[in-house]
Amino acid sequence: MNAEQEVLEEKTFANARNAAAGSLRQLDSKKTAKRPLDIYIFNVQRLENNTFNSHYDQLVYLEKLGFNVNPVKKKCIGIASAIKEVERIGTIRESLGFGTDGAVVKVDNLELREMLGTTFKVPRWAIAYKYPPERKETILKDIVCQVGRTGAITPMAILEPIKLAGSTISKTTLHNEDFIKAKDLKIGDHVIIQKAGDVIPEVVEVVKEKRTGEEKDFVMPDVCPVCGAPAVRENGEAVTRCLGIECSARKLRNIVHFASKVGMDIDGLRLCYN
Ligand SMILES: [Zn+2]
Repeated sequence: MNAEQEVLEEKTFANARNAAAGSLRQLDSKKTAKRPLDIYIFNVQRLENNTFNSHYDQLVYLEKLGFNVNPVKKKCIGIASAIKEVERIGTIRESLGFGTDGAVVKVDNLELREMLGTTFKVPRWAIAYKYPPERKETILKDIVCQVGRTGAITPMAILEPIKLAGSTISKTTLHNEDFIKAKDLKIGDHVIIQKAGDVIPEVVEVVKEKRTGEEKDFVMPDVCPVCGAPAVRENGEAVTRCLGIECSARKLRNIVHFASKVGMDIDGLRLCYN
């Protein structure tokens, strides 16, 4: 779907959840219909002339009717069995074919659910277990500098692309010079990347055992990589800034900001950069 979006010069999606939400928000339902969407049904809300006493039986019934039902479901007797299943799902979740950040443990007996009721916000008969963020190792191939609207020069990690939590990651921010120093990052290092849900992927640490001695130190440039004007880090600041008023990167980012939602919110003005 993203490949197709690219050909059409339309926006690509960061992950499956954004793609689904974005597709449903389309004003033109014909466009939505063309999107490769699918759904897992997880509940029978109301059914006339049929009473269930078990949530699990409902799911089996839905399956019989031909609905897609999450294949990773299990009726567990006792909490120990439930915990074991949650742990098992944790070990197979990367191979499920859909993104997931947790597992839900629910009371199966629907009468008991009624008795337990709900609090102001959440039911008392269900609880979600969230798995720790996915982590993977990759190579920090390069560190390049990006110039922002205010002239702030942000070092970006260029990574050997990896699939993590449902999206391919090839680039992420390293914030500033101090971040790179604190993590002791060198170009060519093997690094651990972490991503939780929609959060921007972050470089967690260096795998120092894998260093060969070929790694190179990153040096923050003292001139702007775009316009060549002096780049200065003021005392007590973490950010290095391009001082060029005529800097084309700064101008472009300013126009983008001007047109954006927080600015003039100009619908239909599209700028391509990078
Ligand atoms: Zn500049």
